[in-house]
Amino acid sequence: MFIKEGIIASPGIAIAKALVYEKVAVEVNKDKTEDRLGEIKKFHQALEQSQTQLKKIKIKAISELGEEEGAIFEAHAMVLEDPELIEGVETEINDNQFGAAYAVKIVTDRFFKIFDQMDDPYFSARAADIRDVGTRVLYNILGIVQADLSKLDDDVIIIADDLTPSDTAQMDKKRVMGFATNIGSRTSHTAIMARSLEIPAVLGLTDITETVHTGDMIIVDGLKGVVTVNPDDDQIKSYEEKRRAYHATLKELEVLKDLDAVTLDGHKVELVGNIGEPNDVGGVLKNGGMGVGLYRTEFLYMNSATLPGEDKQMAAYRSVLEAFPNGPVVIRTLDIGGDKKLPYLPMDEELNPFLGLRAIRLCFKEVDLFKTQLRAILRAGVYGHAYIMFPMVSSVTEVRQAKVILSECMRELEEANIPYDKDIKVGVMIEIPSAAITSDIIAKEVDFFSIGTNDLCQYTMAADRMNQEVSYLYDPFNPAILRLVKQVIMAANNQPGLFTGMCGEMAGDPTAAIILLGLGLDEFSMSALCIPQIKKIIRSIRYEDAKVIAHEALNLETGEAVVDHVLTSMKKLKIKI
Ligand code: PEP
Ligand code: MG
Repeated sequence: MFIKEGIIASPGIAIAKALVYEKVAVEVNKDKTEDRLGEIKKFHQALEQSQTQLKKIKIKAISELGEEEGAIFEAHAMVLEDPELIEGVETEINDNQFGAAYAVKIVTDRFFKIFDQMDDPYFSARAADIRDVGTRVLYNILGIVQADLSKLDDDVIIIADDLTPSDTAQMDKKRVMGFATNIGSRTSHTAIMARSLEIPAVLGLTDITETVHTGDMIIVDGLKGVVTVNPDDDQIKSYEEKRRAYHATLKELEVLKDLDAVTLDGHKVELVGNIGEPNDVGGVLKNGGMGVGLYRTEFLYMNSATLPGEDKQMAAYRSVLEAFPNGPVVIRTLDIGGDKKLPYLPMDEELNPFLGLRAIRLCFKEVDLFKTQLRAILRAGVYGHAYIMFPMVSSVTEVRQAKVILSECMRELEEANIPYDKDIKVGVMIEIPSAAITSDIIAKEVDFFSIGTNDLCQYTMAADRMNQEVSYLYDPFNPAILRLVKQVIMAANNQPGLFTGMCGEMAGDPTAAIILLGLGLDEFSMSALCIPQIKKIIRSIRYEDAKVIAHEALNLETGEAVVDHVLTSMKKLKIKI
């Protein structure tokens, strides 16, 4: 028995036998060929065969996983049509007399390296797409049939280096109990797929494929981020108990689904979900979210091979709005820059990208791109309750500038006689300390605030949110953050009609719920899976008590003292986390 620690990618506990899924090692012949035409024909036949396979996988992916996942295979099909790739392979065959298989291998390796060397998660993901497509074409040339994950006889936990979108789309979802992979992060394809399929997953285990064999007993603990290999009977029993308890908690929370998030003394707040793509709507509905408090639209741009046009964007926004006929949908305008880049949008290297041309700042530079998105949101607004939210705002001047551009878009739509939401609500994320400190000034310009504690914390504490070394400083309970949150809510309360939400991770943190409630937060927006637990806490306390606890917490000197105080108060009130 041994235990390995990795990254929590999808919650839950899975117990089953391992299936080590490895790609077939391929020997490619480097011999020169005389039959250039024959090899070029072979290459084109393999391209066609690959296109046919991808079409089938895409249909399966759309029906089982939704439109957005299906789009990945459109991107794959586009790689197959890439003239540079096709010409590259033909040149290797014609000029260097290589066989089709070797030509495909060296050209796709070349493309792969270019993307892989850019140390940006988006480009690494594109590199994986190229490798996926390259392997498919190569296998088709060589007549290799890949291991079939679509027909599994037993329940398994898939152990792999990484899983490509083609792997996850094809697999027999009823038989796959969990994933454990060598590489991957919380935002990698495998993690996103695992969460939308609700399959427990632990990624980033470095060498799990080397240490585990097919048939080994495995426990994937997606709650703690650990994998136990060949556990003894006691461990299996104890994990079966944990799994039962986890499912019982989920079941218990299910009864809250259609109930309001209302305190014992009748104070109601709104619980809504954070989504990255239209497909995530299902999770929000299932967990009782009554709308969307943060739609991170950058994923629409990142999952696209070219800049998504106005109609494509409008269709995506409309589908989310139509899923919530009575609830709000807060659509955040493009938040790119920092660690997120777009391959089709050249951006200069920056010394401090998180302090550079990110989000609204980039949109002011790329006005056409910004206006395309604003028009798409305005048009989609006709189909529901849309709210536009500007990210990374640091001053009232930026808010005014964004509103001028929004008015221009409205005028253009008016002149073109295109229906749009004339009364759309406009708000900003409060995630930069300067915006929080001047929130009373900004309040006069907007309909709502949404506090982005993920960035507010990193900018206030000067602690990179992704740097492990300074994570001890990255504490949303630090009095500096709590004071800013309080200041923002008070500024909103002094402005009639303005409401305050929070869409940073803090909004879904059970320890923070009572403080935020007591400070007067109106709307909590979080990962769908967090909604039931936060609802349970809110329904277990009186608003008057929450106010007192929040007031006391605000007088404490450290984040640790705040957490202690909340936990002790919850214990006294018999509220369980
Ligand atoms: C935030 O900063 O709190 C936030 C919700 O935005 P993101 O995590 O997308 O930066
Ligand atoms: Mg942010």
